[in-house]
Amino acid sequence: MLILMRTTATDEEVDQVCRAVEASGLKPHPIPGRLRTAIGVTGNTGSEGQEQFAQLRGVTEVIRVTKPYKLTGREMKPEDTVVRVGPVEIGNSRPVMIAGPCSVESRQQTVGTAQALRGLGADMLRGGCFKPRTSPYSFQGLGRQGLEILVEARDQTGLPVVSEALTTETFDLVEEAVDVIQIGARNMQNFSLLKRAGMSDKPVLLKRSMSATLEELLLAAEYVMSEGNPNVILCERGIRTFSEHCRFTLDIGIIPVLKQVTHLPIIVDPSHAAGRRDIVIPLSRAAIAAGADGLIVEVHPDPNQARSDGPQALTLDQFEQLVDELGMIIPAVPRCEGVQV
Ligand code: PEP
Ligand code: MN
Repeated sequence: MLILMRTTATDEEVDQVCRAVEASGLKPHPIPGRLRTAIGVTGNTGSEGQEQFAQLRGVTEVIRVTKPYKLTGREMKPEDTVVRVGPVEIGNSRPVMIAGPCSVESRQQTVGTAQALRGLGADMLRGGCFKPRTSPYSFQGLGRQGLEILVEARDQTGLPVVSEALTTETFDLVEEAVDVIQIGARNMQNFSLLKRAGMSDKPVLLKRSMSATLEELLLAAEYVMSEGNPNVILCERGIRTFSEHCRFTLDIGIIPVLKQVTHLPIIVDPSHAAGRRDIVIPLSRAAIAAGADGLIVEVHPDPNQARSDGPQALTLDQFEQLVDELGMIIPAVPRCEGVQV
């Protein structure tokens, strides 16, 4: 349910409506808009309270939200959400470029890559420290030490950093160190992790699982938002199909459909979809052309030596080419804009 306040409603009237919602055993989520505040209501199973709320001072209309996802849907909030990470705005007109190695492997590899990427126009640095690996014998990430290296890379370049929180046990460590918390594809329906992320004041980058429908993705985001964290960035990273020429199949079609139904920003990870570096640039162009708000791309200074996902990592030269090619299809992708140390 969505309670629309009048454009003239005072903060006190908004507070009173929130209190009335709580008194009915439901949960209010105030959504300040350009012209008016709306109050999303969750916890109701039908139209209970609808008439009562419509009578309250400052309320103009009470609308039933028909979709199963509520806070993530455009019914609740028609305007696009812009997630702000330091100087970076995700979901605003300019697509953002998040780049970096699959895993933080060493200080030299990560800080060196961050410096090079910054010079080439990246907006943020990625790097996994707690890695979800298919095999227990594969490199699992540097953990806490990796986070320290990421923080150093941020300090030296000014690039905000994103890294995955793999478990609720290690969530606090990641949360404290990074600017954006990644929830990986394999954890998209780890509901305790999603709830924990919902209690964070850091933005969450939520990756679509390889077998999730659009509705399941939005309901996962709903878990984060319903705990009180409005800053969710959705990420399409490829789904499992019968195709064997790629690691996963990049679902370009979900981008415009998500744009219709949700106000949340959507970025695309062409690297995990491709699994091979030779098609990462064309997939990136396709994603931006289809309306993605940005990309998260794996880049390694020496992919053959990478401890994870080397075959899909772009070299630094290829990353430079990617930025140039995107600049050609979207003139608004300038290099190095606004990055200040
Ligand atoms: C990653 O970003 O390195 C990663 C493991 O991604 P995903 O969860 O999409 O597989
Ligand atoms: Mn990876």
